[in-house]
This record gives sequence, structure tokens and C-alpha cells, in this order.
Amino acid sequence: MREIRIIGDPVLRTPAEPVADFDRELRKLIDEMFQAMYAVNGVGLAGPQIGVSRRLFVYDIAGRKGHVVNPVLTVDDDEEVLDEEGCLSVPDRRTGLPIYAPVARAAGVTVEGLDRLQRPVRVTSRGSLARCFQHETEHLDGKLYVDRLPRNEARSIMLRA
Ligand code: ZN
Repeated sequence: MREIRIIGDPVLRTPAEPVADFDRELRKLIDEMFQAMYAVNGVGLAGPQIGVSRRLFVYDIAGRKGHVVNPVLTVDDDEEVLDEEGCLSVPDRRTGLPIYAPVARAAGVTVEGLDRLQRPVRVTSRGSLARCFQHETEHLDGKLYVDRLPRNEARSIMLRA
């Protein structure tokens, strides 16, 4: 089982490289990412979160499940929605559970990329799925949701993580 990397690990702050090879290794990696995500009841997981600095993520949220390789996001509705958000890589040190905080995100986004067989993928989303796509894509740029919080809120989270 792949271990989930925790904030402070440099891989989470490193921009990930595009996936170039759509081979057996990639298919195995995607399976392992789903396993690692489900093991901790997660709803999304990006490559860097298991120490693989490659541009891909998996998700299973709001009845929608899938994976996207080399994702590119387009904002369809830039109205900002504030909702609770957490991250498997930012757990409370004592409970091991994600720390939630309200984060503003665009209401609607489309993600485009490729699947494990290099076929085009395009998913239009709103609500929690749109939030998930934005959160996971930011992981691929070495960003975390705490970066979007006011400084004092981010600091109080860092004290618990
Ligand atoms: Zn995350």
C-alpha cells in the first residue's frame, strides 16, 4: 500500500511532471492511487500525495468516479463558492483526520486530459466535484488548500497538522 505524504514533505511542494508513458506502470499506479484513497475514505488523490511527482489524479465523489492524466482546468463559472474543504495530506496530528476549513472555489469547471489508455477525457462539473477537480489540479502545481486561506487560519491549521 502506498503511503500518503503529509504536509512538510517536499514532494507536495514540487510541480509535477507530465505523464509521458501510457504503459502498464501507469495503469498499476492508478490502481494503487485508488487503493490508497479508499483506504483512508478519501474522495480525491493526486500523484504527489503518494510521492509520485506526475500529473494525474483519481476521484470518487458525489457519485462520480474516475481518473485524469495530464489534466487541464477551464473555469466555466467563476462565481466563488465558500465550502468546507480538507486534504488527506493535511491531517490533524492527534486524530489523523483531515483538517477542514472553508475555502473559496469557482462554482463550475471543466477538466480535460487523458485516461489510462491515452483516450481523451472531458468532465464538466459543479459543486463538490468542481471543488475536488480544483483541489487535485493544484496539488500538481505544488499547491495546497491552506495556501488559499487567510494567513492566521493557515497558521492555526499548521499548528494542528
Ligand atoms: Zn489534497
